[in-house]
Amino acid sequence: MNVYRGRFAPSATGSLHLGSIFAALLSFLHAKQQNGQWLVRIDDLDEKRCNQSHSDEILNCLNAFGLESDRAVIYQSTRLKDYADALSTLKRQGILYSCTCSRKSLPKGPYAGNCANRLGQPFLADSAIRISTEKLSTSVNDLLLGPQITGSPGDFIVKRRDGLFAYQLACAVDEHIDSITDVIRGVDLLESTPMQCFISERLGFASPNYGHFPVLIDSNGSKLSKQTFASPVNRKFPGITYSKLAKLMLLKDTPSDRDPASIWLAFFQSVTTPAAIKSMAGVTNTLSV
Ligand code: GLU
Ligand code: ZN
Repeated sequence: MNVYRGRFAPSATGSLHLGSIFAALLSFLHAKQQNGQWLVRIDDLDEKRCNQSHSDEILNCLNAFGLESDRAVIYQSTRLKDYADALSTLKRQGILYSCTCSRKSLPKGPYAGNCANRLGQPFLADSAIRISTEKLSTSVNDLLLGPQITGSPGDFIVKRRDGLFAYQLACAVDEHIDSITDVIRGVDLLESTPMQCFISERLGFASPNYGHFPVLIDSNGSKLSKQTFASPVNRKFPGITYSKLAKLMLLKDTPSDRDPASIWLAFFQSVTTPAAIKSMAGVTNTLSV
């Protein structure tokens, strides 16, 4: 049997907020309660938005919350060759094509395959690369939500026009290299799962199990994110953040705001069994903070 290995994969675009700690915590607990390992991967492919000081800040913050990677921290920016190799493998299968459509010219919804006549042809300069998804399955057997059907992504981008490897490709390759068995993340990423499974399949990799939990929303109904300027957590007092999360998870008899991260983690481990995480995920897609 595979040893459980989970991960938390923040983008190095800014400080962690309540929603990010929630994601880190749930993936951590799910791993630890199954005697698994938990890894941290920094998603830092986008040089314009990511930098080392964001990565350091994220790692310091995770440490302050007692959430430490069981192995050396992984940086996507060190894996460009792996992503390029994966792209070549897909290219040899004749399932990639250059897309010259501008984002503005495309209607919302799945890409209709306007450039699919270039399938198997040499790539054009300055164009995005898409993958033909004829055999993609949109059903996901979610660990937390049960069977799900997502929307169809159409032929999606695996390498962007600006030369960056797309998240879907990089992520699928990473889960394989890192032998990740279980991906526990927010339901906002459910739609990515069929794309990542599809790429894994085409590359001959086993897909991990996926489980999606509710995302936190603010009083405007927007997901807490760096884009909506969610405020960074206070890393001097992790108990403040942990007690907010415990409230959202309807946990009783919690430690106090002033208690250290270790006390909080011991508390969470004693009450949030995988079954409890599952029932929370099954009840709602969003939690209001
Ligand atoms: N860096 C991505 C994000 O923060 C990774 C998500 C994931 O696959 O867990 O949205
Ligand atoms: Zn196109």
